[in-house]
Amino acid sequence: MHVPLLDLKAQYASIREQTIQAVQAVLDSQQFILGPDVKALESAVASYCGCKAAIGMSSGTDALLAALMTLNIGAGDEVITTPYTFFATAGSIWRAGAKARFVDIRPDTFNIDPAGIESAVTERTKAVMPVHLFGQTADMDPILEIAKRHNLYVIEDAAQAIGAKCKGRPAGSMGTMGCFSFFPSKNLGGLGDGGMVTTQDEALAEKLRLCRNHGAQQRYFHQWVGGNFRLDTLQAAGLLVKLPHLDGWSAKRRQNAALYDSLLGECPQVVCPTVLPENESIFNQYVIRVPRRDELAAHLTANGIGNAIYYPLSLHQQECFRDLGYKPGDFPESEKAAATSLALPIYPELTEEQIRYVARTIVEFLA
Ligand SMILES: *Cc1c(COP(=O)(O)O)cnc(C)c1O
Repeated sequence: MHVPLLDLKAQYASIREQTIQAVQAVLDSQQFILGPDVKALESAVASYCGCKAAIGMSSGTDALLAALMTLNIGAGDEVITTPYTFFATAGSIWRAGAKARFVDIRPDTFNIDPAGIESAVTERTKAVMPVHLFGQTADMDPILEIAKRHNLYVIEDAAQAIGAKCKGRPAGSMGTMGCFSFFPSKNLGGLGDGGMVTTQDEALAEKLRLCRNHGAQQRYFHQWVGGNFRLDTLQAAGLLVKLPHLDGWSAKRRQNAALYDSLLGECPQVVCPTVLPENESIFNQYVIRVPRRDELAAHLTANGIGNAIYYPLSLHQQECFRDLGYKPGDFPESEKAAATSLALPIYPELTEEQIRYVARTIVEFLA
């Protein structure tokens, strides 16, 4: 049996006609920059995420960068974040000219541990950037409380978490801004790169709209230096077709996760993902922890089962960040996660038979 890590073709088959029509309408209009489709997607995502405004961006990475630039975070500033995340989180802080201050993760959820945040705050700290990793929100209440006490912005990296909830509140609705990605492998994936920033603050929304358009309200008159961070019209058209299906797809992922939990739960060597009772995950990834991880990964690959390591090297150990001055051992939970975690296929269209095959292959290998 063949079980890919992700199969986008199965999902595409269910929305093929509408997608082609939507793309064709953009082609016929020959209007490729912003316009009504981008506006419609922005208001749909704002309402889906319980936010006053959403601003389309060219990618999740650019959404993070635009958020930082709009909040005027740059040289001399520090941003607290997690070392266990996709590169773009800390990469965007660096590109803004600011310094990432890492705080270790909770071993159960892989998300930043709020208990470590306060002692990382300095007089230079401007923001906390929690990441809602693998589709589960970070522990937002203590993060918001610490941020309030120290007058810090909170930028949610919600790239993996559109529709996830923390005590009923949607990802991207709790902090100063929320940053989303429509990279094709995210739960809401576009026809290429795309992203979005959400906010509850109309003034910030307006500034984000300028930031994505070279800081100009009126063409050729620039109030700030922004960038070209616009979301393509074609992307918005494709995403508008998908958004109504998102809740159903995420529910299917949760159902798949529950089946894995029950099948893998019998194997004492496997640590299944923890979702805190107050959270609702969208399971962008289903990440287990296992001994002999690399051997198991090779065994799964040999048996036709897609898998991936998110992430094999913590960000504080990346060569490009050596000037930050961290060393191996600084964030032991993050490093342990990097050595033991393994992502399994979780996409909505998986069959029960495929999930049982994956689980059986793992249990037999570890037995
Ligand atoms: C995917 C991702 C991003 C970047 O999004 P792109 O659209 O690929 O630029 C940022 N942060 C996290 C946690 C991500 O998973």
